[in-house]
Amino acid sequence: MAKEACSIGSTRLTIDLGAIRDNYRLIARQVAPAACAAVVKADAYGLGAARVVPALYDAGCRLFFVAQLGEALSLASVIGPDARLLILNGLDRGSEALCAAHGFVPVLNSVGQVNRWRAQAARNGAPLPAALQVDSGMSRLGLDADAVAALAADPAFARDISLRLIMTHLACADEPGNAANDAQRARFGVARALFPGVPASIANSGGAFLAADFHCDVARAGIALYGAPPSALAIGLRPVAALSARVIQIRTITAGTGVGYGLDYVASEPRRIATIGIGYADGWPRHLGGKGAAWHNGRRLPILGRVSMDSLTVDISDLADDAPAEGDFVELLGPSQSLDDVAGDAGTIAYEILTQLGQRHQRLYVDGAQQCA
Ligand SMILES: *Cc1c(COP(=O)(O)O)cnc(C)c1O
Repeated sequence: MAKEACSIGSTRLTIDLGAIRDNYRLIARQVAPAACAAVVKADAYGLGAARVVPALYDAGCRLFFVAQLGEALSLASVIGPDARLLILNGLDRGSEALCAAHGFVPVLNSVGQVNRWRAQAARNGAPLPAALQVDSGMSRLGLDADAVAALAADPAFARDISLRLIMTHLACADEPGNAANDAQRARFGVARALFPGVPASIANSGGAFLAADFHCDVARAGIALYGAPPSALAIGLRPVAALSARVIQIRTITAGTGVGYGLDYVASEPRRIATIGIGYADGWPRHLGGKGAAWHNGRRLPILGRVSMDSLTVDISDLADDAPAEGDFVELLGPSQSLDDVAGDAGTIAYEILTQLGQRHQRLYVDGAQQCA
């Protein structure tokens, strides 16, 4: 009970940095001898990049991908001097001098970005580091085959740009049997051959668990670090995030009584119900209304009616003696309910559940059983 007394807020998000390090080592072994980079965009998928990045650095990671310059700026003082920050969304117009001054490595995604980075190199009077993205079939970011060939044929390109990585991104890495993966690898192979000696990268988490010819020199792992298996081939990852929320009220309702906004749920018989202090403002999807569940000691507590902003209501009728009491915490993510379970109920993917969790939870960083400062 003394432990409960120092707990603030009605939700608790526990993040296991030891599990993140173990997942990193597992993926690194999977792709060896290729190096494993960590994708820490979107605040390390919502789990807190300022804590996650040092843990990954401890595990040996030296390449970190973010999506935006602002994310790189906030991590510049967190990584060691021998580590590199690469920016996936590329080079924003007007940010060239700042990006160069910090030694960030932009992933150049278009001819316009390449030209603006070369112009910055000319102003600096020294080559600038860059990664080059090739669009091998996803039609999202990257240069097409002709533009890549033109750069490779331009001797001045290598004088302006110190090319650190040539990369592409798979559209279907989470579907190991999909023929699009091999087609993208083959198209990327052509582009890659134009830059001999430059390290190459295809694989995200899903790609890391595909055949070795997808691993190249560098894999870019995101979701697998955070404990969600990218495909059925990814075995042995440890869960990283656990989430629980407090029961804030318990009541018994009679047959015919409605629950929550719109009275979407109406009891057909007497029910014992509990209102839990988590809602869509905590990133708990509103789509879970009438579909999802919380858990208590391995027992499923179905969500009744709509999810509110700060609370939701679950059915505890079947628990009798084992029912949670007001003030008790019930499980939202943990041994009984994985990210993929929740994502499946909400009609989305683990990535979206994680990145939406937000800042209102009481966060607890642990290392295995050990609580961190
Ligand atoms: C987000 C991202 C990744 C990481 O993807 P996961 O599926 O989370 O491993 C890798 N590469 C690129 C280009 C990305 O945008």
